[in-house]
Amino acid sequence: MKTAVFYDVKNLVVEETPMPEVPKEKILMKIDTCAICTWEQRVYTGVKKVSYPFIGGHEIAGEIVKIGEAVEGDWKQGDKIVFGTNLACGHCYYCRIGEEQNCLNFDHSKQQPGLPYRGMGGLSEYLIVDPSDIFSYQNVAPEEASLTEPLSCVLHSVETAKVDFGDYVLIIGAGIMGMLHLQLAQKRGAIVIVSDPNEKRLELAKSLGATHVINPVKEDLTEKILAYTENLGAQIIFNTTPISGLIPGLLESLSNTGTMILYSSYYPDEPVGLKFDHIHKTGQQIKGTANSNKRDFIRASRLISQGIVDVKPFITKIYPLSQIEPAFEEAVNTESFRIVIDFEQERSEESC
Ligand SMILES: [Zn+2]
Ligand SMILES: [Zn+2]
Repeated sequence: MKTAVFYDVKNLVVEETPMPEVPKEKILMKIDTCAICTWEQRVYTGVKKVSYPFIGGHEIAGEIVKIGEAVEGDWKQGDKIVFGTNLACGHCYYCRIGEEQNCLNFDHSKQQPGLPYRGMGGLSEYLIVDPSDIFSYQNVAPEEASLTEPLSCVLHSVETAKVDFGDYVLIIGAGIMGMLHLQLAQKRGAIVIVSDPNEKRLELAKSLGATHVINPVKEDLTEKILAYTENLGAQIIFNTTPISGLIPGLLESLSNTGTMILYSSYYPDEPVGLKFDHIHKTGQQIKGTANSNKRDFIRASRLISQGIVDVKPFITKIYPLSQIEPAFEEAVNTESFRIVIDFEQERSEESC
């Protein structure tokens, strides 16, 4: 089978690796599509350090091709599935209480069974998966189902913030994560304001239902937010950008008793100064959120399968596996949402 392997910064090679054997308690998943997440983009550019060789890819959709004889449950050959990642350890305190997104031993470089190198494994044609880590999907194309993983993380974030009817919600950043926050916050009845310096993205945010959009390069963000929120500030702010320096200023756009959600990871992770007395007096909360758990995954795959959340606007372009380098270049260098690698295109070309 073909696997895309990182050998160094910007050195990604598609090579033949042995087809994995299926242990009796596992399932063999044929991967149809893998979306290129920011995480893999950072591996490609070297911002995220990994030890080489390394196999990336964790936003994947595919189908069951083989079921181990000891697998229980209703899984059938041909079932369309997404893989929920298995990066949590499964045995620490947080895993045991159902909060595996904050696992003590969360490992983005975990080696997947049957693969020769470490890494999440989604950029290979086949993957051995545990039945507890897969979720079925229907009605949509695999590239759409690939976005179940990012949607599940956003679902976790929106739930952590407890967005409610009539809340003023401010989303910083109108990349795919900001846009998914916009869609889910709206489903929860919020009035959503989106801030981003890119006018094209702001237009898309408007067309997806943002009540107001702000370009913070051209307009004063705090002034605008106060004007849009009865001078109170937003009850909830989601920061989806990697810029930690924004946080102290954003607290001025957050209402008393409001919640700031730190959704994104921070690169570079420089310390920033905060005025604690302001937080003390206003009762503001700052909360982090990362990853997702199985419950988030089940619900995210339902939302996509049933058309409640439409992820089609965020699929910028689909490339065959053989074009993986141009695909990464486009993902890294352009204002794209998601670039998706399609394994199926190549398989059908081979069979012609
Ligand atoms: Zn991802
Ligand atoms: Zn754990």
